[in-house]
Amino acid sequence: MAKKNVKKERKFGKGSRPCRRCGSYGAVIRRYGLYLCRQCFREVAESLGFKKYQ
Ligand SMILES: [Zn+2]
Repeated sequence: MAKKNVKKERKFGKGSRPCRRCGSYGAVIRRYGLYLCRQCFREVAESLGFKKYQ
């Protein structure tokens, strides 16, 4: 088994970064430097004043 050093580096989407709030590797939103998953973003966004996420 010759494993090549191939890392999937995505700027957005699964596996890009963990949510800094709950730590889950899901669809983490880096917008506005939040680094939050979609669920956390929704919760935080409301408190930040965002009415809707897209
Ligand atoms: Zn989260």
